[in-house]
Amino acid sequence: MVTGSAVPVPASHLDVARDAEAATRAANAAMAAKLPFADKADFEDAQRGLIAPMPEGVVRTEGGTVLWNLGEYAFVDGELAPATVNPSLWRMARLNMANGLFKVAERVYQLRGFDISNMTVLEGDTGLVLIDPLTTAEVSRAALAHYRAHRPDKPVVAVIYTHSHIDHYGGVRGVIDEADVAAGTVKVIAPAGFMEAIAGENVLAGPPMSRRAQFQFGTMLPRGARGQVDAGLGKSVARGTPGLIAPTQSIEQPIETHTIDGIEIVFQLAPDTEAPAEMHMFYPQLGVLNMAENACPLLHNFIPLRGAVARDPRIWAKYIGDAIALYAPRAEVMIGQHHWPTFGRAAVLDRLEAQRDLYKHIHDQTLRYMTKGWRPAEIAEVVDLPPGLAERWSVRGYYGSVSHNVKAVYQRYLSWYDGNPCNLHPLPPAPAARKFVEYMGGAAAVIARARADFARGEFRWVAQVMKEVVYAEPGNIEARTLCADALEQMGYQAESATWRNAFLYGAIELRHGVFKLPVRGTLSADTLAGLSTDIFFDLLAIRLDPVKAAGQAMVLNWRFTDRAETLALTLRHCTLTHRLGEWSDRAAASITTTRATLDAVILGRLKVADVLASGAIRTEGDGARLAALFDLLDQPAGLMFEVLTPGEGR
Ligand SMILES: [Zn+2]
Repeated sequence: MVTGSAVPVPASHLDVARDAEAATRAANAAMAAKLPFADKADFEDAQRGLIAPMPEGVVRTEGGTVLWNLGEYAFVDGELAPATVNPSLWRMARLNMANGLFKVAERVYQLRGFDISNMTVLEGDTGLVLIDPLTTAEVSRAALAHYRAHRPDKPVVAVIYTHSHIDHYGGVRGVIDEADVAAGTVKVIAPAGFMEAIAGENVLAGPPMSRRAQFQFGTMLPRGARGQVDAGLGKSVARGTPGLIAPTQSIEQPIETHTIDGIEIVFQLAPDTEAPAEMHMFYPQLGVLNMAENACPLLHNFIPLRGAVARDPRIWAKYIGDAIALYAPRAEVMIGQHHWPTFGRAAVLDRLEAQRDLYKHIHDQTLRYMTKGWRPAEIAEVVDLPPGLAERWSVRGYYGSVSHNVKAVYQRYLSWYDGNPCNLHPLPPAPAARKFVEYMGGAAAVIARARADFARGEFRWVAQVMKEVVYAEPGNIEARTLCADALEQMGYQAESATWRNAFLYGAIELRHGVFKLPVRGTLSADTLAGLSTDIFFDLLAIRLDPVKAAGQAMVLNWRFTDRAETLALTLRHCTLTHRLGEWSDRAAASITTTRATLDAVILGRLKVADVLASGAIRTEGDGARLAALFDLLDQPAGLMFEVLTPGEGR
């Protein structure tokens, strides 16, 4: 997961948020009427085993900056949802307020509500095994301190990452010291392909993913009944300092059993499910099954709104089925790395079967309609949770939605193209919008008709048609406002927290424009250091400006003394390619340095001229070629590109 963490915009921006329209009130009332709100079992489970809530609900830096504050959500109280929040989402927003140190079973504890994710603590014979150290060092440190305030003080002997998303590893430096890992006193265990998955999922497309994540998580939305109320998986993503310590041990076999500090752990690999590298764990002595993020009490994403390679719900269901067969008969408790546990063997089995069928149903039904020639948006209107599942809280779409998951299944099998050649080469959005608006009689005529549709509660259509006017005339305040008003009502009606966040944040950007944040990279130094040199040069290659590179050709040899690696980099046809392990006779120059030095240059901490002058980079041959190469690369741009309007040059 890419977090896109950022400071919320001022709450005064909520002043222009409108109240719920009659159609929104009716939609939310209908939702309230069809779901079993009398069933309070989740609320009991979410509090069960509470030892102590989080002190003040706040995590600060040493300097006092607030990085996490549950107090922002003090308005999430009372059973009755405000008219501006979907009542089903409101219920989840209340459940996700549970926080503190919880005892799950003998030797199994969880720290919840310190971040979007949970940190699980297994009490070994001599020390602690920590599972998933949250997103940033500050919050994981606070969580561990809270554990130690209430339990015997023991050293951390191992960290286990259940999967390759940053809310499950980013805070590792808050709980262990890399020197202890290097000395072998602390193990770091991860599923096969963990580092490759981080590079593959979040690095090359990192900047647009981070920008889109702002919409998914509502990181910059003010909190409030007309703003962000939840993120589905938890309240929000903690701010602070993310990092990464590479695993020292990789789980490679489909099932591997290891005893770690006296605790037997059966690892079940589940690749290509919620993350490309993910695993479940069963602790036979303790009767606890840890499903990582594959069986949370909600409908998860086949593609999150931030964007990702489409996940495979068929395989996902299969691995849940395997966990049922292998562990459910012995599992007294099921935990996950988000939300609260499920207690009791029958309840665990029931939850797992529901999750398995949920993912399989959406997959199968989408393909069934695809087979009949239906297109994504058409299938998304007709596939829904089936009877028997629809009335269960644990499968509802607080994070994913049936609608966008259907589209993800289509994309996985048949791509973005719906097969209709009229859609194969249409005009791009802005020129098409200008034509549409012209054909429809001009912006004023479209806005007048859209106002009537707004009054009738046709918010989906109003947002759809106002998007055309805004793309045709980005400065048209009336169109922007009406579009924002429609998105806002859609946000108020959305059961999915990520839909609500996207709609409401979209409304804010339409009304106020894009907030200009300081330019900063989306890559942490740890992530960059963890990249293979192969991926590192791919990262350089995607910055090449072909206009500047036109007509140029060169080969550069590279030697990295800290990794005993060589590489030949070729510029030709406005394209950079490389071969690891090669050393070309035709190279214009040969460069000797360390990856650490080059990483610092890419992060902007060192300048090429300075490292050449200091000798941190040494060149043989035509040394000027190195600076010439860097001149061909785009400078990292700000993240805050236009989303709701066409943007420059389009
Ligand atoms: Zn997660």
